Amino acid sequence: MRDFFDFDPERGWEERPPRRVLAVLAGEERPDEGPALRHFEAIDAEFVLEQAYGYAWSAPEGMPLSVLEYEARQGDPHLLATAPEGVVLDIRFDDALRDVALRQYFNLFGAAALRGVAHAVPVDAGTGRRILASPPEDAFPSASEHRIEEALARTDAHADMAAIYDVGQGSCSAILEASANPCLYFDFGGGVLQNTRTYPDALRHLCMTRKPTIIMSHWDWDHWSSAMRSQGAALAANLEGTTWIVPRQKIGPVHKAFLMRLIAGGARVEFWDDSKTSITYNAIEIAKCQGASRNDSGLAMRYRPDWCTHDGVFFTGDCAYSALPQSFAGARADALVVSHHGGLSGGSPPLAPASPNAPWYLSYGAGNSYDHPKRSALSAHWSAGWSPANLRDTTHRQPHPLGDLGHILVAAPGIHGPISGTPPCGGTCQLPIVQ
Ligand SMILES: [Zn+2]
Ligand SMILES: [Zn+2]
Repeated sequence: MRDFFDFDPERGWEERPPRRVLAVLAGEERPDEGPALRHFEAIDAEFVLEQAYGYAWSAPEGMPLSVLEYEARQGDPHLLATAPEGVVLDIRFDDALRDVALRQYFNLFGAAALRGVAHAVPVDAGTGRRILASPPEDAFPSASEHRIEEALARTDAHADMAAIYDVGQGSCSAILEASANPCLYFDFGGGVLQNTRTYPDALRHLCMTRKPTIIMSHWDWDHWSSAMRSQGAALAANLEGTTWIVPRQKIGPVHKAFLMRLIAGGARVEFWDDSKTSITYNAIEIAKCQGASRNDSGLAMRYRPDWCTHDGVFFTGDCAYSALPQSFAGARADALVVSHHGGLSGGSPPLAPASPNAPWYLSYGAGNSYDHPKRSALSAHWSAGWSPANLRDTTHRQPHPLGDLGHILVAAPGIHGPISGTPPCGGTCQLPIVQ
């Protein structure tokens, strides 16, 4: 059986696909035209039964994971179209049937197989808790404020630039030292599933020279997948000795397997203490979002280097603007990374630009399957005072000796990319700032 995270785009899908899976909704995106795309994290049901999976907080080797992608048309009454976040489904396949079909991915970066669905029913509450749960406090204690500060203290106190990296349809930003080495990442994702094709061909490795702290806004795979998108030594470097600050959210089999890989790979995983609304250290504030869904209940970041004249640069992950942390209320932003790749972001931007020239940034992949960015999201920003003239996005790839890349510099007004010279870390990564 093939490893779900094994990055090898040449390999095909599973030869003996499971007859039955347990699956839980991971997200729904609604393109402007056509059906909504609903994704489910899934695990082979027979494996769950045989291994007594989900009673303990571990992830057995060789977990038969998959992601299901279902196209839900308007008014579709099927449970695959209507099941809300949190409901676990028992799905039986019959590939002779095509009345109800979905795509099943046996690899996060691979192609999908078309499967016929015989039936889908909700499981009982006990089985549901085995498939979808928050990592429990006793096994994964919340980090003290001191531990979070320690992780942030690895960041150079004089770092006064940031980068929004071009990872296709996903998010990955960083705070940079003077040499443009990332010393702290905010999200570590990139395009997956259908959107793997939006990831830049040239990008193989992110820079791990400084053993950076990685803040994960939420558990959606487009916000961490680059950690698993390498092999061998590069994969080990993404994990070993790094510190991940993550929100405590309900997670299914795929996210759980990723958490276990982090730990097994030697990463320190610090769970955010939900009794804390915000922690600030030097120029960085991490704050808890106030919503309920996975997108809206994670972590957001404010970065306030010396050149900021107002309230800082805001990194909002995929959080609805109406659910941003308390401490962001009423802020005048020196710069803004648009939430949710320019997808639906729930309400108008409450972060007003500090000046008519304030830049705002978009991270998405050209030709993505969700039609991000949405025209309505962009016009909500225009109405809130963010000028179209100051918008920059990761799809503006520039030719570079390493290949076409769209990495963007965030710096004091008047300072723009590209940054000339060797790429950060001297050439083992592909993170030259080109715009
Ligand atoms: Zn998300
Ligand atoms: Zn996202």
